[in-house]
Amino acid sequence: MKVLKFGGTSVASAKNIKLVRNIVAARARKEQLFVVVSAFSQVTNKLQSVVDDSVNNNKAALKTLEQIKKQHYEAAEELLSKREATAVKKSLDASLGNIEKIIEGVGIIGEMTPRINDRVMSLGERLSSAIIGAYFNKEFATDLINPGDYIHTDSHFGTANVNYKVTYDNIAKAKFPKKSVILSPGFMAHDVEGNITTLGRGGSDFSAAIFARGLMAEELEIWTDVDGMMTADPRIVRSAKVIENISYEDAMELSHFGAKVVYPPTIQPALQKGIPIRIKNTFNPDAPGTQITDEAEKNGTTVQGLTSITNVVLVNLKGPGMVGIPSMSQRLFKSFAEKNINIILITQASSEHTISIVISENEANTAAASVRREFKQEIEQGRIDPLEIEKDLVIVALVGSNMQHQVGVSGKMFSTLGANGVNIKAIAQGSSERNISTVIEARDLKKALNSLHEDFFLSERKRLNLFIAGVGNVGGEFLSQLKKQAPILLDKEHIDIRVVGLANSKKMAFNDEGIKLNNWRRSLDAGKPMKMVNFIGELKQLNLRNSIFIDNTATDEVPKYYEEILTASISVVTPNKVAAASAYENYLKIKQTALRYRSQFLFETNVGAGLPVISTLNDLVKSGDKVTAIEAVLSGSLNFIFNNYDGSRPFTEVVKQAQEEGYTEPDPRIDLSGLDVKRKLLILMREAGLIAELEDIIGKQFLSEKAFKARDVSSFYNVLTKEEDAILARFEKANKKGNKLKFVARYKNGKATTELVEVAPDHPFFNLEGKDNIVLYYTSRYAEQPLIVKGAGAGAAVTASGIFADVIRVAHS
Ligand code: ADP
Ligand code: ASP
Ligand code: MG
Repeated sequence: MKVLKFGGTSVASAKNIKLVRNIVAARARKEQLFVVVSAFSQVTNKLQSVVDDSVNNNKAALKTLEQIKKQHYEAAEELLSKREATAVKKSLDASLGNIEKIIEGVGIIGEMTPRINDRVMSLGERLSSAIIGAYFNKEFATDLINPGDYIHTDSHFGTANVNYKVTYDNIAKAKFPKKSVILSPGFMAHDVEGNITTLGRGGSDFSAAIFARGLMAEELEIWTDVDGMMTADPRIVRSAKVIENISYEDAMELSHFGAKVVYPPTIQPALQKGIPIRIKNTFNPDAPGTQITDEAEKNGTTVQGLTSITNVVLVNLKGPGMVGIPSMSQRLFKSFAEKNINIILITQASSEHTISIVISENEANTAAASVRREFKQEIEQGRIDPLEIEKDLVIVALVGSNMQHQVGVSGKMFSTLGANGVNIKAIAQGSSERNISTVIEARDLKKALNSLHEDFFLSERKRLNLFIAGVGNVGGEFLSQLKKQAPILLDKEHIDIRVVGLANSKKMAFNDEGIKLNNWRRSLDAGKPMKMVNFIGELKQLNLRNSIFIDNTATDEVPKYYEEILTASISVVTPNKVAAASAYENYLKIKQTALRYRSQFLFETNVGAGLPVISTLNDLVKSGDKVTAIEAVLSGSLNFIFNNYDGSRPFTEVVKQAQEEGYTEPDPRIDLSGLDVKRKLLILMREAGLIAELEDIIGKQFLSEKAFKARDVSSFYNVLTKEEDAILARFEKANKKGNKLKFVARYKNGKATTELVEVAPDHPFFNLEGKDNIVLYYTSRYAEQPLIVKGAGAGAAVTASGIFADVIRVAHS
């Protein structure tokens, strides 16, 4: 004999019931079956609202009942012939009519009793089983039984306690006809007086387990709408995987801790007699499902699954009067027990100063009142602080018996949560080491589960969620590189990069599954109006794991948000120099914020575009080297200008060409003044460990003050024409000696300068081509021969690839 239970979704509609019939029919030819069915999906919830509305909104309650009736009539009509349907509807009417009268009565009397509650709540199973029984009978002999004849409970309505001895006896003694399929509604039972009781929400699984145990069945099969018990709730963690084998204990722990797929008490009766449980998918019957036995213990992975319990609160009892007084916890527990409040988790620090207890949110007020009453005196005397209740929390737990004696599991759990900015309010680990639980804020649930799942089950794969502001030259190029590279990274590095948020100055668009990169422009055009505060709001609201913010703008506005972003443990990657070259105090604050919240602030492309200028410097410093001098050509634009100026045509013309070809800023004076180079040198000095401000760098101009003060770019060119002679003279002076002019940034002996200098042919700067950059680091270890970084130092393609490298750096951190 096998017991098969079909859940709410499996019997949600006529179409699904046909699938169930196919499964049962095929199996019934080979073996004897006992089938337990749930109410149609959502019907029990509707009945709950009938109960809730019955006193204060009786009309609504009756209306809901009417809808339930209609839904069942329709299913019967679709599955059965007219004649059969008429007969079944009659039996449905008997149950429905009865409940209708009861609800009318409740409306008049104004009281809903627990006994009536269970009668109403069990209606869903009674209706579904009547229809399914008639439908089965068309194809194979089916006997519909009343589970109340066998399963006996006390009168604790809502979650009645089973009298196992009597129940198992009843079932064992029952003489079920051998040739038919036995069909029973789940969820309901009877008390000693014959009143209908219910076994708790989700209790049809339990009914099936009780029958399986009473019948000493070969196997209990729970047929549901997923392929088995999974490593995490598949509705929250899309990459959750089916667990093929799991022990009774771990399955029990997972289900107790919120893995809704089986109702927790279900495991116990099967475990007692070693009856294997299999979780199967009605909609994918060929999938092997999950097998729950006691064999599984040995071959499981360290962590079997992740679970969560939502809608909980943390009750914190603390104060000086707690320490060293043994009766405190006993009194605290008593105040919960008196009100029948279930304690989900307890923690007490060894200082004994605080006891924290997690209970269900809907019991918070009752619990608070009871605890306050118990400790009234201590609270008034100030020995215990006023009771603190923290709301909007959830428990996230790692489950698996193989965690026993394994070092490092909790460490990994906390570090994963920490790296994603998930604040842990309380921690508990049972001494069985089968479960490590953390209490966190509800808004972090999805992020916590997904990042833990990634680390414990998919360690080979990591998802990165990018939020990008700016789609101009560099930003656009970055997106096209990403489009090309993303599939390769996924395949080779197992990094799954998605652009979740995208913005330009006008619009912003979001998609938490990733904006399609082949038509991101269209997505952006269809987006909402861009406002940086809202962009950040959405970024925080989505609260996705491994989020990275990329500032591909050159504005002053966007960097103002870095601190806020980093505080949310979201890393910032940017080619924008504004933040790193701002006041030292601000630079430091941003860096410290990143450190504190375990996020990263990466700006490799601030100097030398994609060249590894900053990362090289960071490596030197981190490995204990000391930078003694820096010498560099850091302006691709100035290098281009001086490489193209040979005195044969006016300097002004060369500058104009550079501007037209996009090698300078729209106002070329930003480059010509050396301000940009100054900023870059400042950033290098800071990264080398110096406390420095922009004013500490002496910038010598090679153009007159008048040129820089000119009203606009065209009047600047006018002034520049008048300075041709001076520039030519400088060029010729250098040229005569065989030297070249280079705009050089230097730091040495506490002095920093940027200026136009002559370099001799034997100098490493002499042969610098086009818009190349070069940096020489002199350090304690590279004292004689400097460490040199050289290569293309400007342009969208190399800058974008530098941003890319920073993103990968975050992924590998
Ligand atoms: P039924 O109506 O068949 O009893 P339930 O809705 O009670 O089904 O349970 C199945 C649902 O449990 C799945 O659809 C899934 O969304 C949810 N679930 C939560 N956690 C898990 C988990 N760890 N493994 C599988 N399913 C889970
Ligand atoms: N129908 C009941 C519920 O929804 C029992 C079950 O489906 O297991 O709680
Ligand atoms: Mg269920």
